[in-house]
Amino acid sequence: MYDLIIRGGRVIDPESGHDGVADVAIQAGTIVAVGAGLGDAAQVIDAGGLVVAPGFVDLHAHGQSLPADRMQAFDGVTTTLELELGVWPVARWYEEQGRAGRTLNYGASTGWVFTRIGAMTAQQVEASIEGMGRAMRDPRWSSAAATAAETEDIIARVRQGLDEGGIGIGFPNAYVPGAGAKEMSALCRLAASANAPTFTHIAYMSNVDPRSSIEAYTRLIGFAGSTGAHMHMCHFNSTSLQDVEAAAELVRTAQAQGLKVTLEAYPYGVGSTVVGAAFFTDPEFPQRTGGGYDTIELLQSGRRLADRDDLLAAQEQDPGALILWHFLDVDVTPRHRDLLDVSVLFPGGAIASDAIAWMIDGAPYTGDAWPLPDGVVSHPRSAGTFTRFLSRWVRERQSMPLIEGIAKCTLIPAQILEAGTPQMHRKGRIKPGCDADIVVFDYADLRDMAEFSAMNRPARGMRHVLVNGEAVIADGYLRPNARPGRPVRREAR
Ligand SMILES: [Zn+2]
Repeated sequence: MYDLIIRGGRVIDPESGHDGVADVAIQAGTIVAVGAGLGDAAQVIDAGGLVVAPGFVDLHAHGQSLPADRMQAFDGVTTTLELELGVWPVARWYEEQGRAGRTLNYGASTGWVFTRIGAMTAQQVEASIEGMGRAMRDPRWSSAAATAAETEDIIARVRQGLDEGGIGIGFPNAYVPGAGAKEMSALCRLAASANAPTFTHIAYMSNVDPRSSIEAYTRLIGFAGSTGAHMHMCHFNSTSLQDVEAAAELVRTAQAQGLKVTLEAYPYGVGSTVVGAAFFTDPEFPQRTGGGYDTIELLQSGRRLADRDDLLAAQEQDPGALILWHFLDVDVTPRHRDLLDVSVLFPGGAIASDAIAWMIDGAPYTGDAWPLPDGVVSHPRSAGTFTRFLSRWVRERQSMPLIEGIAKCTLIPAQILEAGTPQMHRKGRIKPGCDADIVVFDYADLRDMAEFSAMNRPARGMRHVLVNGEAVIADGYLRPNARPGRPVRREAR
Protein backbone atom coordinates (compact mmCIF):
# COMPACT_ATOMS: atom_id res chain seq x y z
CA MET A 1 0.00 0.00 0.00
CA TYR A 2 1.64 3.22 -1.21
CA ASP A 3 0.96 6.80 -0.06
CA LEU A 4 0.10 7.88 -3.59
CA ILE A 5 -0.14 6.51 -7.12
CA ILE A 6 -0.23 8.73 -10.20
CA ARG A 7 -2.19 6.43 -12.50
CA GLY A 8 -2.10 6.09 -16.28
CA GLY A 9 -0.27 9.27 -17.32
CA ARG A 10 2.26 9.71 -20.13
CA VAL A 11 5.38 9.38 -18.01
CA ILE A 12 8.41 11.15 -19.41
CA ASP A 13 11.82 10.51 -17.88
CA PRO A 14 14.59 12.25 -19.84
CA GLU A 15 17.37 10.20 -18.24
CA SER A 16 16.15 6.74 -19.25
CA GLY A 17 14.36 7.98 -22.37
CA HIS A 18 11.06 6.55 -21.09
CA ASP A 19 8.07 8.20 -22.80
CA GLY A 20 4.94 6.09 -22.41
CA VAL A 21 1.92 5.33 -20.25
CA ALA A 22 2.78 4.12 -16.76
CA ASP A 23 1.92 4.48 -13.08
CA VAL A 24 4.19 6.21 -10.59
CA ALA A 25 4.09 5.15 -6.93
CA ILE A 26 5.21 7.42 -4.09
CA GLN A 27 6.03 6.58 -0.49
CA ALA A 28 7.25 9.07 2.14
CA GLY A 29 8.13 11.75 -0.39
CA THR A 30 10.13 9.43 -2.64
CA ILE A 31 9.34 7.73 -5.95
CA VAL A 32 9.39 4.00 -5.19
CA ALA A 33 8.06 2.35 -8.36
CA VAL A 34 7.34 3.17 -12.01
CA GLY A 35 5.44 0.68 -14.17
CA ALA A 36 2.09 -1.01 -14.76
CA GLY A 37 -0.27 -2.56 -12.17
CA LEU A 38 1.44 -1.15 -9.11
CA GLY A 39 -1.27 -2.08 -6.61
CA ASP A 40 -3.08 0.12 -4.11
CA ALA A 41 -2.44 3.49 -2.57
CA ALA A 42 -4.04 5.71 0.04
CA GLN A 43 -4.51 8.33 -2.67
CA VAL A 44 -4.74 8.05 -6.45
CA ILE A 45 -4.29 10.78 -9.05
CA ASP A 46 -5.91 9.89 -12.37
CA ALA A 47 -3.40 11.20 -14.93
CA GLY A 48 -5.12 9.80 -18.03
CA GLY A 49 -4.39 12.12 -20.98
CA LEU A 50 -1.85 14.11 -18.94
CA VAL A 51 1.94 14.28 -19.01
CA VAL A 52 3.80 13.17 -15.87
CA ALA A 53 7.33 14.60 -15.72
CA PRO A 54 9.99 15.57 -13.20
CA GLY A 55 9.39 18.97 -11.59
CA PHE A 56 11.33 21.76 -13.23
CA VAL A 57 14.63 22.91 -11.70
CA ASP A 58 15.26 26.65 -11.99
CA LEU A 59 18.94 27.54 -11.68
CA HIS A 60 18.31 31.26 -11.61
CA ALA A 61 15.59 32.74 -9.41
CA HIS A 62 15.96 36.04 -7.58
CA GLY A 63 13.47 37.53 -5.14
CA GLN A 64 12.39 34.24 -3.61
CA SER A 65 9.25 34.57 -1.49
CA LEU A 66 5.86 32.96 -0.88
CA PRO A 67 4.19 34.66 -3.89
CA ALA A 68 7.24 33.96 -6.07
CA ASP A 69 7.12 30.24 -5.17
CA ARG A 70 3.41 30.07 -5.97
CA MET A 71 3.77 31.72 -9.37
CA GLN A 72 6.68 29.41 -10.18
CA ALA A 73 4.68 26.36 -9.08
CA PHE A 74 2.12 27.15 -11.79
CA ASP A 75 5.08 27.34 -14.19
CA GLY A 76 5.99 23.76 -13.16
CA VAL A 77 8.97 24.66 -10.99
CA THR A 78 9.57 22.48 -7.92
CA THR A 79 13.15 23.55 -7.12
CA THR A 80 14.12 27.22 -7.30
CA LEU A 81 17.73 28.31 -6.87
CA GLU A 82 19.40 31.71 -6.48
CA LEU A 83 22.78 31.00 -8.08
CA GLU A 84 23.86 33.93 -10.27
CA LEU A 85 23.77 36.53 -7.50
CA GLY A 86 23.82 34.23 -4.48
CA VAL A 87 23.22 35.14 -0.85
CA TRP A 88 25.25 36.14 2.16
CA PRO A 89 25.66 35.00 4.89
CA VAL A 90 24.76 31.59 3.51
CA ALA A 91 23.95 29.72 6.75
CA ARG A 92 21.66 32.49 7.95
CA TRP A 93 19.76 32.52 4.64
CA TYR A 94 19.07 28.78 4.85
CA GLU A 95 17.98 29.14 8.49
CA GLU A 96 15.57 31.92 7.56
CA GLN A 97 14.02 29.90 4.73
CA GLY A 98 13.60 26.89 6.99
CA ARG A 99 11.95 29.00 9.67
CA ALA A 100 9.57 30.70 7.24
CA GLY A 101 8.64 27.44 5.45
CA ARG A 102 8.84 27.22 1.68
CA THR A 103 6.42 25.99 -0.97
CA LEU A 104 9.23 24.90 -3.30
CA ASN A 105 12.65 23.37 -2.74
CA TYR A 106 15.18 26.17 -2.44
CA GLY A 107 18.88 26.87 -2.45
CA ALA A 108 21.51 29.49 -3.18
CA SER A 109 25.14 29.97 -4.04
CA THR A 110 27.68 32.02 -2.11
CA GLY A 111 27.10 35.66 -3.07
CA TRP A 112 30.56 36.88 -4.02
CA VAL A 113 29.20 40.39 -4.67
CA PHE A 114 28.13 40.67 -1.03
CA THR A 115 31.47 39.39 0.23
CA ARG A 116 33.06 42.14 -1.87
CA ILE A 117 30.69 44.83 -0.58
CA GLY A 118 31.53 43.67 2.96
CA ALA A 119 35.29 43.45 2.43
CA MET A 120 35.74 46.67 0.43
CA THR A 121 33.14 49.12 1.83
CA ALA A 122 31.43 49.84 5.13
CA GLN A 123 27.96 49.17 3.68
CA GLN A 124 25.52 46.64 5.13
CA VAL A 125 23.00 45.65 2.47
CA GLU A 126 20.42 42.94 2.19
CA ALA A 127 21.50 40.10 -0.15
CA SER A 128 19.21 40.86 -3.10
CA ILE A 129 19.47 42.56 -6.50
CA GLU A 130 17.91 45.68 -5.03
CA GLY A 131 20.38 45.58 -2.13
CA MET A 132 23.27 45.28 -4.58
CA GLY A 133 21.87 48.24 -6.54
CA ARG A 134 21.67 50.36 -3.38
CA ALA A 135 25.30 49.53 -2.58
CA MET A 136 26.23 51.57 -5.68
CA ARG A 137 26.05 54.58 -3.31
CA ASP A 138 29.67 53.67 -2.48
CA PRO A 139 30.74 51.81 -5.64
CA ARG A 140 34.33 50.87 -4.89
CA TRP A 141 33.31 47.18 -4.58
CA SER A 142 32.05 47.43 -8.17
CA SER A 143 34.64 49.58 -9.89
CA ALA A 144 37.94 48.76 -8.20
CA ALA A 145 40.35 45.85 -8.19
CA ALA A 146 40.68 44.43 -4.69
CA THR A 147 43.96 44.96 -2.83
CA ALA A 148 45.89 41.88 -1.73
CA ALA A 149 44.45 42.15 1.79
CA GLU A 150 40.93 42.63 0.47
CA THR A 151 41.32 39.67 -1.88
CA GLU A 152 42.31 37.51 1.07
CA ASP A 153 39.24 38.70 2.98
CA ILE A 154 36.93 38.05 -0.01
CA ILE A 155 38.31 34.54 -0.51
CA ALA A 156 37.92 33.74 3.20
CA ARG A 157 34.28 34.85 3.12
CA VAL A 158 33.53 32.91 -0.08
CA ARG A 159 35.15 29.81 1.40
CA GLN A 160 32.98 30.19 4.50
CA GLY A 161 29.88 30.40 2.26
CA LEU A 162 30.87 27.17 0.50
CA ASP A 163 31.51 25.49 3.84
CA GLU A 164 28.03 26.56 4.97
CA GLY A 165 26.48 24.76 2.03
CA GLY A 166 26.34 27.39 -0.71
CA ILE A 167 25.85 25.68 -4.10
CA GLY A 168 28.95 27.14 -5.76
CA ILE A 169 29.86 30.79 -6.27
CA GLY A 170 27.74 33.48 -7.97
CA PHE A 171 29.80 35.76 -10.24
CA PRO A 172 27.66 38.63 -11.55
CA ASN A 173 30.76 40.17 -13.13
CA ALA A 174 28.85 42.74 -15.17
CA TYR A 175 28.03 44.52 -11.92
CA VAL A 176 31.67 44.35 -10.85
CA PRO A 177 33.67 45.53 -13.86
CA GLY A 178 36.61 46.36 -11.58
CA ALA A 179 37.24 42.78 -10.44
CA GLY A 180 40.69 41.71 -11.56
CA ALA A 181 41.87 38.46 -13.12
CA LYS A 182 44.07 37.59 -10.11
CA GLU A 183 41.10 37.68 -7.75
CA MET A 184 38.86 35.79 -10.20
CA SER A 185 41.54 33.20 -10.83
CA ALA A 186 42.01 32.58 -7.10
CA LEU A 187 38.25 32.22 -6.61
CA CYS A 188 37.96 29.82 -9.56
CA ARG A 189 40.77 27.70 -8.09
CA LEU A 190 38.85 27.64 -4.81
CA ALA A 191 35.71 26.56 -6.69
CA ALA A 192 37.61 23.80 -8.51
CA SER A 193 39.16 22.46 -5.30
CA ALA A 194 35.74 22.46 -3.61
CA ASN A 195 34.15 20.78 -6.67
CA ALA A 196 31.70 23.70 -6.76
CA PRO A 197 30.40 25.32 -9.94
CA THR A 198 30.48 29.05 -10.57
CA PHE A 199 27.57 30.99 -12.09
CA THR A 200 28.57 33.96 -14.20
CA HIS A 201 26.87 37.00 -15.62
CA ILE A 202 29.75 37.87 -17.97
CA ALA A 203 31.70 41.07 -17.38
CA TYR A 204 30.82 42.86 -20.63
CA MET A 205 27.72 43.02 -22.79
CA SER A 206 28.69 44.58 -26.08
CA ASN A 207 28.71 43.84 -29.77
CA VAL A 208 31.93 45.83 -30.20
CA ASP A 209 35.52 45.47 -29.02
CA PRO A 210 37.18 46.18 -26.72
CA ARG A 211 35.20 44.82 -23.76
CA SER A 212 32.83 42.90 -26.02
CA SER A 213 30.68 39.95 -24.96
CA ILE A 214 33.04 37.76 -26.99
CA GLU A 215 35.98 39.04 -24.95
CA ALA A 216 34.12 38.23 -21.73
CA TYR A 217 33.18 34.68 -22.82
CA THR A 218 36.75 34.07 -23.94
CA ARG A 219 38.02 35.13 -20.51
CA LEU A 220 35.44 32.94 -18.78
CA ILE A 221 36.40 29.91 -20.88
CA GLY A 222 40.01 30.75 -20.03
CA PHE A 223 39.21 30.37 -16.32
CA ALA A 224 37.70 26.93 -16.99
CA GLY A 225 40.88 25.87 -18.78
CA SER A 226 43.40 27.50 -16.45
CA THR A 227 41.82 26.61 -13.09
CA GLY A 228 39.70 23.53 -13.80
CA ALA A 229 36.59 25.29 -12.48
CA HIS A 230 33.12 24.55 -13.81
CA MET A 231 32.00 27.84 -15.36
CA HIS A 232 28.24 28.13 -15.90
CA MET A 233 27.03 31.04 -18.04
CA CYS A 234 23.81 32.70 -16.95
CA HIS A 235 21.18 34.01 -19.38
CA PHE A 236 23.19 33.41 -22.56
CA ASN A 237 20.34 35.13 -24.44
CA SER A 238 20.73 38.54 -22.82
CA THR A 239 24.50 38.79 -22.51
CA SER A 240 25.33 37.72 -26.08
CA LEU A 241 23.22 40.43 -27.77
CA GLN A 242 23.63 40.27 -31.57
CA ASP A 243 26.82 38.17 -31.33
CA VAL A 244 25.11 35.06 -30.01
CA GLU A 245 26.11 32.84 -32.95
CA ALA A 246 29.80 33.60 -32.52
CA ALA A 247 29.44 33.16 -28.75
CA ALA A 248 27.73 29.78 -29.20
CA GLU A 249 30.60 28.65 -31.41
CA LEU A 250 33.09 29.52 -28.65
CA VAL A 251 31.09 27.45 -26.15
CA ARG A 252 30.74 24.46 -28.47
CA THR A 253 34.49 24.44 -29.13
CA ALA A 254 35.32 24.72 -25.42
CA GLN A 255 32.89 21.90 -24.56
CA ALA A 256 34.32 19.69 -27.32
CA GLN A 257 37.69 20.00 -25.60
CA GLY A 258 36.21 18.74 -22.35
CA LEU A 259 36.16 22.06 -20.50
CA LYS A 260 33.47 22.33 -17.85
CA VAL A 261 31.42 25.08 -19.48
CA THR A 262 27.60 25.08 -19.37
CA LEU A 263 24.88 27.62 -20.07
CA GLU A 264 21.25 28.56 -19.54
CA ALA A 265 18.78 30.90 -21.27
CA TYR A 266 15.30 32.34 -20.75
CA PRO A 267 12.80 32.63 -23.62
CA TYR A 268 12.29 36.41 -23.67
CA GLY A 269 13.97 39.29 -25.50
CA VAL A 270 13.49 41.58 -22.52
CA GLY A 271 15.71 41.52 -19.45
CA SER A 272 15.39 42.99 -15.99
CA THR A 273 17.82 44.42 -13.48
CA VAL A 274 18.47 47.54 -11.38
CA VAL A 275 18.87 50.96 -12.98
CA GLY A 276 22.18 51.39 -11.14
CA ALA A 277 23.85 48.53 -13.09
CA ALA A 278 27.34 49.59 -14.14
CA PHE A 279 26.86 48.58 -17.79
CA PHE A 280 24.15 51.19 -18.33
CA THR A 281 26.45 53.96 -17.09
CA ASP A 282 29.02 53.29 -19.82
CA PRO A 283 28.86 56.44 -22.02
CA GLU A 284 28.96 54.19 -25.11
CA PHE A 285 26.02 52.05 -23.96
CA PRO A 286 23.95 52.67 -27.16
CA GLN A 287 26.78 51.84 -29.58
CA ARG A 288 27.89 48.86 -27.51
CA THR A 289 24.48 47.21 -27.21
CA GLY A 290 22.89 48.30 -30.49
CA GLY A 291 19.92 49.91 -28.67
CA GLY A 292 19.19 53.37 -27.26
CA TYR A 293 18.29 54.56 -23.75
CA ASP A 294 14.63 54.06 -24.66
CA THR A 295 15.26 50.29 -24.38
CA ILE A 296 15.35 50.90 -20.59
CA GLU A 297 11.90 51.03 -18.95
CA LEU A 298 11.38 51.93 -15.29
CA LEU A 299 9.38 49.05 -13.84
CA GLN A 300 7.29 51.01 -11.38
CA SER A 301 6.16 53.83 -13.68
CA GLY A 302 6.47 52.10 -17.07
CA ARG A 303 8.37 55.16 -18.31
CA ARG A 304 11.09 54.73 -20.95
CA LEU A 305 14.31 56.68 -20.47
CA ALA A 306 15.05 59.48 -22.94
CA ASP A 307 18.83 59.86 -22.88
CA ARG A 308 21.95 59.47 -20.73
CA ASP A 309 21.12 62.44 -18.50
CA ASP A 310 17.75 60.83 -17.78
CA LEU A 311 19.57 57.58 -16.88
CA LEU A 312 22.04 59.32 -14.58
CA ALA A 313 19.17 61.15 -12.84
CA ALA A 314 17.29 57.86 -12.32
CA GLN A 315 20.47 56.25 -10.95
CA GLU A 316 20.97 59.17 -8.57
CA GLN A 317 17.38 58.98 -7.35
CA ASP A 318 17.36 55.23 -6.60
CA PRO A 319 20.10 52.98 -8.02
CA GLY A 320 18.20 49.96 -6.64
CA ALA A 321 15.04 50.65 -8.70
CA LEU A 322 14.10 47.75 -10.98
CA ILE A 323 13.92 48.25 -14.74
CA LEU A 324 12.99 46.24 -17.82
CA TRP A 325 15.57 46.21 -20.60
CA HIS A 326 14.29 45.59 -24.14
CA PHE A 327 17.49 44.20 -25.69
CA LEU A 328 15.87 42.18 -28.52
CA ASP A 329 12.61 42.95 -30.28
CA VAL A 330 11.54 39.37 -30.95
CA ASP A 331 7.90 40.11 -31.84
CA VAL A 332 8.78 42.64 -34.53
CA THR A 333 12.18 41.65 -35.94
CA PRO A 334 12.50 38.09 -37.33
CA ARG A 335 16.30 38.28 -37.06
CA HIS A 336 15.97 38.92 -33.34
CA ARG A 337 13.79 35.84 -32.93
CA ASP A 338 16.51 33.81 -34.66
CA LEU A 339 19.09 35.23 -32.24
CA LEU A 340 16.95 34.26 -29.24
CA ASP A 341 16.56 30.75 -30.69
CA VAL A 342 20.33 30.20 -30.69
CA SER A 343 20.47 30.46 -26.90
CA VAL A 344 17.09 28.92 -26.04
CA LEU A 345 17.68 25.88 -28.28
CA PHE A 346 21.40 25.44 -27.52
CA PRO A 347 21.97 21.65 -27.23
CA GLY A 348 22.65 20.70 -23.63
CA GLY A 349 21.68 24.17 -22.37
CA ALA A 350 19.25 24.62 -19.49
CA ILE A 351 16.14 26.77 -19.39
CA ALA A 352 16.32 29.10 -16.37
CA SER A 353 14.04 32.00 -15.53
CA ASP A 354 16.15 34.77 -13.97
CA ALA A 355 12.92 35.48 -12.04
CA ILE A 356 12.92 38.75 -10.12
CA ALA A 357 11.08 39.89 -7.02
CA TRP A 358 7.35 40.68 -7.02
CA MET A 359 6.94 44.37 -6.20
CA ILE A 360 4.09 46.67 -5.31
CA ASP A 361 4.44 50.47 -5.18
CA GLY A 362 8.22 50.10 -5.36
CA ALA A 363 8.52 47.70 -2.41
CA PRO A 364 8.79 43.89 -2.39
CA TYR A 365 5.45 42.10 -2.20
CA THR A 366 5.66 39.02 -0.01
CA GLY A 367 2.03 38.74 1.12
CA ASP A 368 -0.31 35.78 1.28
CA ALA A 369 -3.01 37.05 -1.12
CA TRP A 370 -3.89 34.64 -3.92
CA PRO A 371 -4.24 35.26 -6.79
CA LEU A 372 -1.62 38.01 -6.68
CA PRO A 373 -3.24 41.46 -6.49
CA ASP A 374 -3.40 43.64 -9.59
CA GLY A 375 -0.65 46.23 -9.46
CA VAL A 376 1.95 43.68 -8.39
CA VAL A 377 4.77 43.68 -10.92
CA SER A 378 7.88 41.64 -11.68
CA HIS A 379 8.79 40.28 -15.14
CA PRO A 380 6.65 37.76 -17.04
CA ARG A 381 9.56 35.33 -16.83
CA SER A 382 8.92 35.09 -13.06
CA ALA A 383 5.60 33.43 -13.95
CA GLY A 384 5.96 31.85 -17.37
CA THR A 385 9.50 30.89 -18.43
CA PHE A 386 9.10 27.11 -18.55
CA THR A 387 5.52 26.95 -19.83
CA ARG A 388 6.43 29.54 -22.46
CA PHE A 389 9.35 27.45 -23.69
CA LEU A 390 7.37 24.18 -23.71
CA SER A 391 4.21 25.61 -25.30
CA ARG A 392 5.73 27.94 -27.89
CA TRP A 393 9.10 26.42 -28.85
CA VAL A 394 8.35 22.74 -28.27
CA ARG A 395 4.60 22.26 -28.91
CA GLU A 396 3.80 25.01 -31.44
CA ARG A 397 7.06 25.32 -33.34
CA GLN A 398 8.14 21.70 -32.79
CA SER A 399 11.74 22.73 -32.28
CA MET A 400 12.47 19.45 -30.52
CA PRO A 401 10.62 16.38 -29.17
CA LEU A 402 8.81 16.95 -25.86
CA ILE A 403 11.20 14.68 -23.96
CA GLU A 404 14.14 16.86 -25.03
CA GLY A 405 12.26 19.99 -24.04
CA ILE A 406 11.54 18.43 -20.64
CA ALA A 407 15.24 17.54 -20.27
CA LYS A 408 16.20 21.22 -20.64
CA CYS A 409 13.87 22.04 -17.71
CA THR A 410 14.79 19.11 -15.44
CA LEU A 411 17.64 16.66 -16.06
CA ILE A 412 20.09 19.14 -17.59
CA PRO A 413 19.93 21.68 -14.71
CA ALA A 414 20.15 18.80 -12.20
CA GLN A 415 23.25 17.46 -13.96
CA ILE A 416 24.87 20.91 -13.95
CA LEU A 417 24.79 20.80 -10.13
CA GLU A 418 25.09 17.17 -9.13
CA ALA A 419 28.90 16.81 -9.02
CA GLY A 420 29.12 19.32 -6.18
CA THR A 421 25.63 18.84 -4.70
CA PRO A 422 24.95 15.09 -4.70
CA GLN A 423 21.30 15.44 -3.70
CA MET A 424 20.65 16.74 -7.24
CA HIS A 425 21.14 13.13 -8.43
CA ARG A 426 17.66 12.58 -6.96
CA LYS A 427 16.01 15.40 -8.93
CA GLY A 428 15.16 15.86 -12.61
CA ARG A 429 14.24 12.18 -13.02
CA ILE A 430 11.21 9.91 -12.63
CA LYS A 431 12.73 6.75 -11.20
CA PRO A 432 12.73 4.81 -7.94
CA GLY A 433 14.83 6.49 -5.27
CA CYS A 434 14.29 10.00 -6.62
CA ASP A 435 12.51 12.79 -4.76
CA ALA A 436 8.82 12.93 -5.63
CA ASP A 437 9.05 16.37 -7.25
CA ILE A 438 6.56 15.78 -10.07
CA VAL A 439 4.45 17.84 -12.46
CA VAL A 440 1.25 16.48 -14.02
CA PHE A 441 0.11 18.77 -16.83
CA ASP A 442 -2.26 19.04 -19.77
CA TYR A 443 0.16 19.50 -22.65
CA ALA A 444 -2.48 20.76 -25.09
CA ASP A 445 -3.58 23.42 -22.59
CA LEU A 446 -0.09 24.43 -21.40
CA ARG A 447 0.52 28.17 -21.79
CA ASP A 448 2.33 31.06 -20.13
CA MET A 449 -0.21 33.80 -19.41
CA ALA A 450 1.86 36.63 -17.88
CA GLU A 451 2.43 39.60 -20.15
CA PHE A 452 4.19 42.89 -19.63
CA SER A 453 0.79 44.55 -19.27
CA ALA A 454 -0.48 41.83 -16.87
CA MET A 455 2.34 40.11 -15.06
CA ASN A 456 0.33 38.64 -12.19
CA ARG A 457 -1.30 35.91 -14.28
CA PRO A 458 -0.20 32.38 -13.39
CA ALA A 459 0.59 30.02 -16.25
CA ARG A 460 -2.05 27.53 -17.39
CA GLY A 461 -1.93 23.77 -17.72
CA MET A 462 -0.48 22.45 -14.44
CA ARG A 463 -3.04 20.04 -12.91
CA HIS A 464 -0.92 18.63 -10.10
CA VAL A 465 2.45 19.77 -8.81
CA LEU A 466 4.10 17.67 -6.10
CA VAL A 467 7.07 18.75 -4.03
CA ASN A 468 8.57 15.90 -1.99
CA GLY A 469 5.36 13.96 -2.57
CA GLU A 470 3.05 16.70 -1.24
CA ALA A 471 0.72 18.61 -3.56
CA VAL A 472 1.27 22.36 -3.85
CA ILE A 473 -1.19 22.39 -6.77
CA ALA A 474 -4.06 19.86 -6.81
CA ASP A 475 -6.65 19.61 -9.59
CA GLY A 476 -5.35 22.91 -10.97
CA TYR A 477 -5.77 24.83 -7.68
CA LEU A 478 -3.14 26.18 -5.31
CA ARG A 479 -3.00 24.53 -1.89
CA PRO A 480 -2.20 27.73 0.01
CA ASN A 481 -0.93 26.14 3.21
CA ALA A 482 1.42 23.60 1.62
CA ARG A 483 5.06 24.17 2.65
CA PRO A 484 6.84 20.97 1.57
CA GLY A 485 9.97 22.72 0.21
CA ARG A 486 13.31 21.49 1.49
CA PRO A 487 16.80 22.95 1.21
CA VAL A 488 19.18 22.02 -1.57
CA ARG A 489 22.76 22.62 -0.48
CA ARG A 490 26.24 21.28 -0.63
CA GLU A 491 27.14 19.08 2.24
CA ALA A 492 28.27 21.55 4.87
CA ARG A 493 31.57 20.70 6.49
ZN1 LIG B 1 19.85 37.28 -12.73
